[in-house]
Amino acid sequence: MTEPVHVYAGECTTTYRADADPQRQRGRVVVVHKPDGTVLVHDAAGYQPVAWLTRANAVHRERGPEGGFGLVAVKDGERLRVESHGDADHACHDATPAGVPVGHCPDCTGRLVRARGSVTCLGCPAEYGLPRDAAVLDSTCDCGLPRMAVERGARFELCVDRDCEGLDASVRERFDREWSCPDCGGDLRVLRERSLFLGCENYPDCGTSVGLPDREVVGTCECGLPLVAPESGDATADADARCLDGCHRAAR
Ligand SMILES: [Zn+2]
Ligand SMILES: [Zn+2]
Ligand SMILES: [Zn+2]
Ligand SMILES: [Zn+2]
Repeated sequence: MTEPVHVYAGECTTTYRADADPQRQRGRVVVVHKPDGTVLVHDAAGYQPVAWLTRANAVHRERGPEGGFGLVAVKDGERLRVESHGDADHACHDATPAGVPVGHCPDCTGRLVRARGSVTCLGCPAEYGLPRDAAVLDSTCDCGLPRMAVERGARFELCVDRDCEGLDASVRERFDREWSCPDCGGDLRVLRERSLFLGCENYPDCGTSVGLPDREVVGTCECGLPLVAPESGDATADADARCLDGCHRAAR
């Protein structure tokens, strides 16, 4: 998915104002205005902007009198103003998120990259949101998209497109009614609110629920809940499996 990034260049006065006195600077600079409202003013040296406002609430652009420009970015108590003197250059470029390449888009053959929690195509608007802990694999789904691996009580390998292969349906098929409620003996269903969890089938009479682990289930506890492998790097765990509820009853 592309979004416009505006780039300006010219001799400018930059005024940054927060609580204190305004800081005013003048020089030949390059100004980058990103679609999320971030404005960066760069001079000739270093990686750091000489002035900036990240994710401004609003950015107003004006055309200056002699073909120049004026830019005002506002965020809560902060205000950044950039005004050109005389002629200035302006260009608008299409930009995408940049990330690790993970394959090619089956729709447009463009490059797919993993960036900010999604797999995004650089050539078309296709975007596939990933679970936070998903690992994108080298293998390819029949539909042409890359596959990913997610741990939810077991390792699930799925297409990155949830309309092609859904994580919820796969986890439900595997684990729905697999364990029983420690409080009333009812079946635990695989449910989702923001994330997947196990909830008692007798809700609302019984409100028992536990999160589905992001690790492998290795057995069933005496209380009815799954036992999970100890977290890697947890030296105190004695490599013993633990009840999801931490109930310390013996394994069955
Ligand atoms: Zn594409
Ligand atoms: Zn697929
Ligand atoms: Zn219950
Ligand atoms: Zn238990």
